[in-house]
Amino acid sequence: MNLNTITEIKRPSSANDIYGWREGYAWLAGGTWLFSTPQIGTDTLIDLESLRWPALQVSSDGLEIAATCTIAELDRFKAPADWAATPLIRLCCHSLLMSFKISNAATVGGNICMSLPAGSMISLTVALEGVYTLWPRDAKPRNVAAIDFVTGNHANVLSPGELLRSIHLPANALSKRFAFRRFSLTHLGRSAVLLIGTQAVHSEDLLLTITAATARPMQLHFDRVPVATELRDTIQAHISDADYFNDVHGSAAYKRHLTYYYAEQIRAELQHGPPA
Ligand SMILES: Cc1cc2nc3c(=O)[nH]c(=O)nc-3n(C[C@H](O)[C@H](O)[C@H](O)COP(=O)(O)OP(=O)(O)OC[C@H]3O[C@@H](n4cnc5c(N)ncnc54)[C@H](O)[C@@H]3O)c2cc1C
Repeated sequence: MNLNTITEIKRPSSANDIYGWREGYAWLAGGTWLFSTPQIGTDTLIDLESLRWPALQVSSDGLEIAATCTIAELDRFKAPADWAATPLIRLCCHSLLMSFKISNAATVGGNICMSLPAGSMISLTVALEGVYTLWPRDAKPRNVAAIDFVTGNHANVLSPGELLRSIHLPANALSKRFAFRRFSLTHLGRSAVLLIGTQAVHSEDLLLTITAATARPMQLHFDRVPVATELRDTIQAHISDADYFNDVHGSAAYKRHLTYYYAEQIRAELQHGPPA
């Protein structure tokens, strides 16, 4: 849609060109959300594309994803062969209510900064133990663990004008085994529940990440794969009924039910290997 409150679009070549942040400014990434709804309080868009950050960089430490990397670019990523968890990238890129037109424009950073429960770039980067690099306007860059970034539905730790610069996925997390479960009320619809379990190489541990069902991501770590009752008790102890997210994509009670159902499937899969 046309945003008729916008009077200026800035195209900086460096983020440092933007100082004196004020109300009315907004970073523009792919614009898929920004242009989908009136932005009454915004008069200036600051286009991140002109910063020309390299989308994806592989090193022995892991994968560096620029916030401006599009979901389509990430979907096409060819990973080193020993990163066993990389099929998760595709699965999460396809876990959005998005046509190819949207996924060619929507960015990984935009999805994370929107901080919606169904933000599957959040699910991916939390499950793979990501660390976000944030650039505040008037302070030094800071790193935040992906699990600590989203604080609620459409809420996160960013301060005004603070920019998400990049996401680091460590090589050891990318090398893990994984199990993935997702449910959506409609085919290709927004996720009602998205759970990912990972297990380190030569280990019996389980890292369970619960997203979409809850307003913010939840993560549970077990030193060894628990028995079914221990898993249920731990989820119950850490996630209260009020943490489940109620919306048109499913009631809180329904999402709670699916969380336990899929958590048990993930537990069994990582304990006994994938189903034949
Ligand atoms: C048809 C359709 C389907 C969608 N389906 C889903 C879905 O299933 N799940 C879901 O989670 N979302 C969904 N969305 C919402 C949204 O489009 C996506 O979350 C998308 O990934 C946003 O990315 P973008 O690059 O287009 O962000 P933009 O629209 O450009 O920006 C979104 C917000 O994030 C801020 N922002 C962007 N990048 C940064 C950055 N690097 N640092 C700081 N702030 C930043 C912007 O200022 C803005 O407030 C959908 C949208 C549409 C139109």
